[in-house]
Amino acid sequence: MESERALTGQVPTDLPPGLHSFRDWTVEKFVHLDEAPIDPAMQERHRIYSMLLMSIVLDSWNGNKYGEVGDYGQWRADQRMPQAANVYRGGSYLGHNIAALAVDAEGRVIDYDFNHNEIFDSSVEHAESRLVRRVFALNQVYDQWEGNGETRHRRIAAPDRQQRRVFATAVTDRGDRVTPRTPEKVASGYSTLLSDVTVYTSLESCAQCTGIMCLASVKEVVYLQPDAGQFLIGNIMRRATKAQSLSFTAPRPIPGKEIGLRYYSELTEGAEDFAARVRDEPFFQSPTKTNNSPSVTSYLCTDGAYRTFQSATVELSGWSSLEHPDYRPDRPESALSNRQVLGMAKDFLEYVKGVKNRGTSHRV
Ligand SMILES: [Zn+2]
Repeated sequence: MESERALTGQVPTDLPPGLHSFRDWTVEKFVHLDEAPIDPAMQERHRIYSMLLMSIVLDSWNGNKYGEVGDYGQWRADQRMPQAANVYRGGSYLGHNIAALAVDAEGRVIDYDFNHNEIFDSSVEHAESRLVRRVFALNQVYDQWEGNGETRHRRIAAPDRQQRRVFATAVTDRGDRVTPRTPEKVASGYSTLLSDVTVYTSLESCAQCTGIMCLASVKEVVYLQPDAGQFLIGNIMRRATKAQSLSFTAPRPIPGKEIGLRYYSELTEGAEDFAARVRDEPFFQSPTKTNNSPSVTSYLCTDGAYRTFQSATVELSGWSSLEHPDYRPDRPESALSNRQVLGMAKDFLEYVKGVKNRGTSHRV
């Protein structure tokens, strides 16, 4: 192999064809995506959903990653119970403080979900992958189940309307046509069902979640905090899949800094500061355990992270004056305006508070 390289000056071509054009690229060039800048009005729209997501995380905040009894030092001093020195608010740890939200082509929230690693005693119960599976399942729940348009009994008129509302993505083509769903389309439509869906996730996606969103053809994923441990896998998969003629493309990764979300830099710097100091100032100590790992999920239990999520929640609840209130995407025609999105976001947060679960309907 070495001699072949020396003779031709090229890497032997055991690369799949879709990667040929990148054979001489640096890693830095490969992972740096040159996507179109986002319109300021669309940035504002993305910020509304981002702050809604942060408000949802705050509503189900749990920080007792290593139990509610012990010593989290100065990292969680504000979450300590006033009457007991080493007992902390929040009860049992259910999963990391990471959530994801799915929004359809019209701008309607489809659903949300949380990281549930702890509940399932598993390292793969991530918010985005749970959410994507859930949205596919919702499609089945709302699937037309009886007859056709002529013979359908009147009592299923409401579910039919729900279906259209929940799955605007499924009835909307990218072109001019808006095609009503038919049973035939439902049967073969899973590959494009989520192709107009935007996922908002509070932490940059891992390989598993990027893979699931890629296979699901999710349009784009907005993340509110980078996770250096995921080595820009979202960018890598976006670059690789866009270059090939595949039936699926990884979602466009959009970091919060591209939508003017100030909490992005707050969380980024907060996590960096945590990682730099936690070696000397342990995150958790008990008679049997000391943890001083620079883990981003530990940072997401700290008072500093809590305050950032709280600031976003306060900003959303007091947000009444938009810079682009009448903006709506070109398609579909039924898309909500930014003003409507803001109202819906506030309503949805009230709904989430009423649900009192880390995710809708399902109990965990
Ligand atoms: Zn993940």
